[in-house]
Amino acid sequence: MAFSSPVRENLKRIEEEIARACAESGRRREEVTLLAVTKTVAPVLINEALAAGVTEIGENRVQEYLAKRDELLLSGVRTHLIGHLQTNKAAKIVGMVDMIQSIDSLRTAQAVARASGAVGRVTDILIEVNIGGEEVKSGVAPEQAEELVAAAAALKGIKIRGLMTVPPICGDKRQLRLYFSRMQKLFVDIREKKIDNTSMDVLSMGMSSDFYEAILEGSTMVRIGTALFGGRPPQRS
Ligand SMILES: *Cc1c(COP(=O)(O)O)cnc(C)c1O
Repeated sequence: MAFSSPVRENLKRIEEEIARACAESGRRREEVTLLAVTKTVAPVLINEALAAGVTEIGENRVQEYLAKRDELLLSGVRTHLIGHLQTNKAAKIVGMVDMIQSIDSLRTAQAVARASGAVGRVTDILIEVNIGGEEVKSGVAPEQAEELVAAAAALKGIKIRGLMTVPPICGDKRQLRLYFSRMQKLFVDIREKKIDNTSMDVLSMGMSSDFYEAILEGSTMVRIGTALFGGRPPQRS
């Protein structure tokens, strides 16, 4: 395209920041994947991001994703579910995304494993950790993460690829880095256990307001919505 769009401009800025964070922490740019969070975003805008070079997208809601999916130009693109998954939706989403990042109970892992087995697939998953120990947030408690990884790893039909987190909303960058570094430590501790049927290579953390800090603390995948697409309408829940 000869002219530039806001999405293109935003992507360029985000790319520069990712590169700076990688440089500051002595990491290679290829160690960090940019995932564009496309919840509430219209397909035409998502396709603009894909045309501009985005290669991974994430949606929160099964229903919304499935409604938009046919309009997306997904060739060569990896897709993720990053929002809470109800067990009764597992069969709907398995096979429609490359990775489910929001597994936080054995029950959900079992539902995804069962649905995957039924269609002869293996689904990549991440275990979501509630690193801030917040009462109302999804995610397994950090102390229980390893146990959940071990239990879920025994299921056929899924493959655990790593951990995901959404830290507490927090204006204090130092505190944020503490959450991220605790996640990184948990990730490395579990990886070093070399649990069968896992390949712990993805640490998904960092969003629009804190991806720089997340990369400094070892994130391998940042999930960016508003910084790329602009503000969203207020969330239903
Ligand atoms: C919405 C969302 C994001 C992106 O948030 P932004 O602040 O818009 O970048 C990342 N991860 C999850 C799980 C989300 O729900």
